[in-house]
Amino acid sequence: MGTSSYDLAIAIDLGTTYSCVAVWKNNRIEIIANEQGNRTTPSCIAFTDADCFIGDPAKNQAATNSANTVFDAKRLIGRSYADANVQSDMKLWPFKIIKGETGNPKIVVTYKGEEKQFDAEEISSMVLKKMKDVADTYLNTDIKKAVITVPAYFNDSQRLATEKAAKIAGHKVLRLLNEPNAAAIAYGLDLHKDRGDINVLIFDLGGGTFDVSLVTINSEGKIEVIADGGDSHLGGEDFNNQMVNHFVVEFKNKYNKDISKNCRALGRLRVACERAKRVLSSTTETSIDIDCLYDGIDFSSKITRAKFEELNINFFRECMKTVQGCLDDAKINKSRVDKVVLVGGSTRIPMVQQMLQDFFHGKSLCRSINPDEAVAYGAAVLAAKMIDKKNQKVQDMVLLDVTPLSLGLEEHGQLMRVVIPKNTPIPFTEEITRYTTSDNQSCFVLKVYQGERSRSIDNILLGELRLSNLPLAPRTVTSVTVCFDIDDDGTLKVSAHEPITGNNNSLTITKNQLKHTKEETDKMLKDAVKYNVDDQEYRKRVEAYNALDNFVYALRARMKDQDIRNTLSLEDCKTMDAVAKEATHWLQVNKEAEYDVLAAKSKELKCVCRSIYEKTNVRRSMTSYMSTKKN
Ligand code: ADP
Ligand code: MG
Repeated sequence: MGTSSYDLAIAIDLGTTYSCVAVWKNNRIEIIANEQGNRTTPSCIAFTDADCFIGDPAKNQAATNSANTVFDAKRLIGRSYADANVQSDMKLWPFKIIKGETGNPKIVVTYKGEEKQFDAEEISSMVLKKMKDVADTYLNTDIKKAVITVPAYFNDSQRLATEKAAKIAGHKVLRLLNEPNAAAIAYGLDLHKDRGDINVLIFDLGGGTFDVSLVTINSEGKIEVIADGGDSHLGGEDFNNQMVNHFVVEFKNKYNKDISKNCRALGRLRVACERAKRVLSSTTETSIDIDCLYDGIDFSSKITRAKFEELNINFFRECMKTVQGCLDDAKINKSRVDKVVLVGGSTRIPMVQQMLQDFFHGKSLCRSINPDEAVAYGAAVLAAKMIDKKNQKVQDMVLLDVTPLSLGLEEHGQLMRVVIPKNTPIPFTEEITRYTTSDNQSCFVLKVYQGERSRSIDNILLGELRLSNLPLAPRTVTSVTVCFDIDDDGTLKVSAHEPITGNNNSLTITKNQLKHTKEETDKMLKDAVKYNVDDQEYRKRVEAYNALDNFVYALRARMKDQDIRNTLSLEDCKTMDAVAKEATHWLQVNKEAEYDVLAAKSKELKCVCRSIYEKTNVRRSMTSYMSTKKN
């Protein structure tokens, strides 16, 4: 069966300088090229008198229209104007930033002859829309669902703003995924089941940023960032600049002319340098030819890989120092790093790879996936997995997020009733029915707990949900349907519904409320093992008590029924009334009774009842025997 647009979801790596879109199609991940044939698209928007350009065309005209060519929106998104980063970045940008009404930064450009202001979200949404269009064109359909990646260090405000940008662009965000996690997923590192924790270093050297993350992946495939570091202003653009400066000096020496003040010339030189830099990652020498660069001079030169390396060696050394710092923060010796993953276009530079490999004493690096595509690749694996749950091939690629601890409700006797067991892949929905536990009960109080212990109060209370104005009825007659629903994002919604009155109520528990530190989760799981015997004992005891309580309730209910009383002799009625009364009292004073005591009481009670029922049955059959005889 072919894939319909319903079971397609794309993944977008929204980068500071370049963005990339990928999709799972024909049983593999495809990186989708834009209409220029490029597999990554500059995160760049240009406004002109007539048009608005996005991606390659925007970047290509940047030199001649710098004030209206906006890039780096990712550095602004979710930040305030007063943010120190915004204040220092602003000084470097050719476009204008002002303070908006709510204290947010506004990007000011001239578009079609008029001054226009944009929020960073709007710029990012244009990039996200462009990536969506690239995918829509390739897949020939309108793909709504998307996984979007964000840096691991993004705070809530930056994540929210990114999500908002995606919504504006027409995406339904399945998940915001951390970039290093996506890279680890791309290499299937989360599939290393049954081999204990592995330490993975993600080295991401992109266009304008450098991020190092040390993540631990446990045997269940859970990826956790242990430490991260980096340099928010180090990347491919810096390497380009070094080359540009080199040629500015060369031009000066050759022609005694300074081109450093001429934006247009510099811009054209920068484009040529970027191209040369890329070529030098696969060859050892390349040339630069620019017609009419300055004062009618055609500029033509050569550059070797060795020269390029010499120009940038300090940057590369800086990167290695940052790696060491990250390991120090994580308190992990480099010998304990199991995998090193290359991410970011600038890790295509051979010297960067060599230095990193040397740093890890010759360890081989994960680099079989193009580094500037690895994040989008991993995100697409996750996207496919999230929408195509039945496809085993997809499912085997990656373990989905799972519930780290069980989720459930408190039952009578402070018993934890598990509704969603631990390690259930999310999203997940489960419905259960609960019955009233006393006569004329008008209100249900549903306590939602998380944990592995039998006694509810030994677990974590997540919240309480009340459902009142229930129809009054004898115990167990009124029921409510309780639904536990965890969405893709890990948010739990517990809703309760009473079918007769239609009353309903719900409770939302955020992902953060459900999330605990590794230590807390581990403690909970260890305690569950440690107290397993006690817990089982407790469960057995409470279940026995509840069963006995139900039995006695049913007995009392039966003895209130005149039809039943009519079948018994007066004496038996009296005995049964007394038994029911005594048992009710007994239950009240023996709430903490041990299992054996409860079991004995239950046996005794059932024995008395049985003997009376048997007598009744004998009498009934005698009566019917006599009546047949008479006839
Ligand atoms: P981002 O930092 O926005 O996530 P990328 O990871 O795509 O972006 O990295 C973009 C950078 O990678 C650019 O500076 C680009 O020049 C650089 N780059 C891409 N390909 C190569 C290559 N073959 N050799 C060296 N640098 C490259
Ligand atoms: Mg990136």
